[in-house]
Amino acid sequence: MIRVTSPNMYVGRRRPVRVVVLHTAQAPCLPGRAEGVMRYLANDYVDASAHYCTDPDNTVAGVDEADTAWATPSVNADGIQIEQTGYAEFGSGEAIPTDNTAARQAYGGYWPSWDSAMPQRMLRTQVVPLVADICRRHGLPAVLLEPADLLAGRSGITDHHRCSVAYGGDHWDCGGAYPLVGVIDDVRRALGGAQPTSTEPFPPSTIEAPMHVGQDIRGNLWLFTSPTDYRLIPAGDWEKDVNPKLIRWARAGLIRTNDDGSPFIGKVLDDVWNDSILNLRRID
Ligand SMILES: [Zn+2]
Repeated sequence: MIRVTSPNMYVGRRRPVRVVVLHTAQAPCLPGRAEGVMRYLANDYVDASAHYCTDPDNTVAGVDEADTAWATPSVNADGIQIEQTGYAEFGSGEAIPTDNTAARQAYGGYWPSWDSAMPQRMLRTQVVPLVADICRRHGLPAVLLEPADLLAGRSGITDHHRCSVAYGGDHWDCGGAYPLVGVIDDVRRALGGAQPTSTEPFPPSTIEAPMHVGQDIRGNLWLFTSPTDYRLIPAGDWEKDVNPKLIRWARAGLIRTNDDGSPFIGKVLDDVWNDSILNLRRID
């Protein structure tokens, strides 16, 4: 396995591995592209990373499974994050936007299907064996986790979209046409009789929950910090309720921002990870 080590991670984990989260890397699904994705995610100015990225011929490791990658804020602590080359738009049948030159170059005018040769080769030769191996080593059942299952603390396999529905967020990969059920069926077959049969929920993690940001806290709050204070706001619709507030606060200098003025959620995660919230004043 190729390794492109990323500095974008937390050493260790706050919770046992519970979920495999599948993503699309929004890059062409072609041989050799996984390494390019991981080289991008290894830049320290990128607030993102993954444990693995796959393309039709390769699986590239970026963050050790024992450490915490940054891909799904709500499920980073107990997730193993797999980026797959490909686009959430695959299978939509729609035209590729003219400004997406990488996708246009690879596919011409229209998004291809997940049934086409390269994505199928990636799913069969890289993704299924990788996920099966992870499930075997961590004792995870090869079952699909819908948002309600995630919220109930069950373990298994899901995608970023389902995490967004469960905990908030606007990422919708792997897209509506991604064959998640088929992939999980193949993982189950690959595991044969070795798969755990129990889908009992992991113990609730209420004690640690307030320490993870951007994360739904006991089902109804989001947490953000500034250098001196923190605030809790109701969860709910990301686009309608959460994001506008963040943008307003960022403009007013009430929370940390990126260079372009957008809310710096990565830094917030960092602060809370270091328990610095304990020294902050709460202002709602
Ligand atoms: Zn994602």
